Amino acid sequence: MDWARQIHIKSPAEIAIMRAAGRINAEVLATVKALLQPGVSTADLNAAAEDVLRKHKCTSPFKGYGKPPFPTSITACINKEMVHGIPKKDRKLKEGDIVSIDCGTILDGYVADSAFTAGVGKISEEAQRLLEVTEGALHAGIQKMRVGFRTGDVGAAIQEYVERHGFHVTREYTGHGVGRQMHEGPQVPNYGKPGTGMPLRQGMTIALEPMVLVGTHKTRVLADQWTVVSADGSLTAHHEHSVAVTAGDPLILTVP
Ligand code: MG
Ligand code: MG
Repeated sequence: MDWARQIHIKSPAEIAIMRAAGRINAEVLATVKALLQPGVSTADLNAAAEDVLRKHKCTSPFKGYGKPPFPTSITACINKEMVHGIPKKDRKLKEGDIVSIDCGTILDGYVADSAFTAGVGKISEEAQRLLEVTEGALHAGIQKMRVGFRTGDVGAAIQEYVERHGFHVTREYTGHGVGRQMHEGPQVPNYGKPGTGMPLRQGMTIALEPMVLVGTHKTRVLADQWTVVSADGSLTAHHEHSVAVTAGDPLILTVP
């Protein structure tokens, strides 16, 4: 795919719609987060997310996406599952799990995309550190989302933050432009070299999404053709925000 051809610079009016979509997406994720406790199934989490989307007359771009068509409005990943986990009735949360939820919201034709990872009850010290490092890496990347930097500066900031804390960034899955489509250009890997890649321009809207693994950077895809897991079975985490490049500070679109 030629990502460079698919960049859509957004007007202030378009960014305002995306900000509204991002607020709804934040409400979806907060609703799901409040339900994380032992015994709740990942299908229950999807149903709760769909209730919020329906209330706002919105849909998720995840449902029906790709091949085979993704069946639900959120993805739900537990422990070694990194991204694209399919919610299921028989998949119940347990004390000590870490759960990553990703959701998109389409409002008036514009997409917002974000994700979080959180613990169920009491989690291990290593799991807690993983969550903190992944979120910290996202914010290190966001700080580079300014005119004058390039996509490689963003990726390098994420990679440097993660590796400094002894964890690994994924190589196969990346951040991406977002807005008119769930996936637009530019592609923004979670690694990179400062001063390389595409220059950031005012009006670019990008979903940054560090995916962090404890053991190695390697992943594999399960037989369901969607769920991506760490190759060595170690814990993984994923945090994501959709962010607009402005004339000044980065604007996080997917917060309340
Ligand atoms: Mg996402
Ligand atoms: Mg994304």
